Amino acid sequence: MHAEVRVELDRAWAAALDGSRFIGGEAVDTFEAAWAARCGTKHAVGVASGTDALVLSLRALGIGAGDEVIVPTNTFIATAEAVALVGATPRFVDVDDRTLLISPGRAMSEIGARTAAVIVVHLYGNGAWLDELRAVADRHGIALLEDASQAHGAMWRGRPLGSYGRLGTFSFYPGKNLGALGDGGAVVTDDDDLARSIRSLANHGRCETDGARHRRGGMNSRLDAIQAAVLTAKLPRLEAWNEARRAIARQYRERLGGIVRMVEDGDGAVPVHHQFVVRIPDLDLFRRDLSDVVIETGIHYPTPCHRQPGWERYPTSEMLVAENASEEILSLPISPHLGASQVSLVCEALAQAIRPLEVVGG
Ligand SMILES: *Cc1c(COP(=O)(O)O)cnc(C)c1O
Repeated sequence: MHAEVRVELDRAWAAALDGSRFIGGEAVDTFEAAWAARCGTKHAVGVASGTDALVLSLRALGIGAGDEVIVPTNTFIATAEAVALVGATPRFVDVDDRTLLISPGRAMSEIGARTAAVIVVHLYGNGAWLDELRAVADRHGIALLEDASQAHGAMWRGRPLGSYGRLGTFSFYPGKNLGALGDGGAVVTDDDDLARSIRSLANHGRCETDGARHRRGGMNSRLDAIQAAVLTAKLPRLEAWNEARRAIARQYRERLGGIVRMVEDGDGAVPVHHQFVVRIPDLDLFRRDLSDVVIETGIHYPTPCHRQPGWERYPTSEMLVAENASEEILSLPISPHLGASQVSLVCEALAQAIRPLEVVGG
């Protein structure tokens, strides 16, 4: 990936050194404008990480102690962490069995008097039911927040994910579909006041017009100019990289159909396949077989949030789908630079490894 953009990266790096403006400045403004345009939102505010993007969004919405925020239990822990970091209580919900995403019905069932927001996570770069989720949030007068940290450039019904909620958050951790060379994040929104508020909170609560005045308790969560320049250099490739991931996903679907169960794309989604996840009942046995042929796989995520030590104290309803899925899910190799022959090899190995399991399982 970096070989492909090496010339642009070298140029960005040199410009950053020459300009000697390392926090804020033109490089950050340029990236923010480009990212807002890509997301179809009025504003993008660069921040220090995806976790901070969530924390700042919740704070800008005025969510804190005494509030509950609905979070799908199968997500990266940062989603729940952000809720706890602002002093609110995560209310975990189970997910839909086909997509492993939060459904409007699940979200609705957990809304109570203290609910202040729903965070929908576009897990694996996939999206579903955004109109319906927004309608549920509107009906209850609560905010819909999108954690789009795995969904850079993904669409749902013709609109970019991240643009459906009051706020959408992104991480630019190096492993994401659009990654910096370190930590980074962004919040996107159409709301002028929320954007202004986040910009101020991320910069020590400074007043827009007078940097020596601090209107409220903020924090330091700014996007580095160097990371912004790197992201601007990579952004023109994002669509091609996402398309390469979709081509691999198509290949997996064609080759593995009838062999293994796969997590489904949301209706109306153009996903970006941050992960490609299959479900295998006897996963432990199976994974050992696959490592024999040196195919690296991952599990996203082996333990649902509500079962993590330190998070078990939050009361939940039944989480059968997420709990069953966590025993079965396996993320297959997927990256824009994986060749068709490599994907083919993975499919062969997978089909081979699964056959003996079927015999064992009867
Ligand atoms: C990566 C990720 C985050 C956190 O982003 P960081 O930049 O690592 O703080 C939050 N939510 C989801 C779904 C993620 O995948």
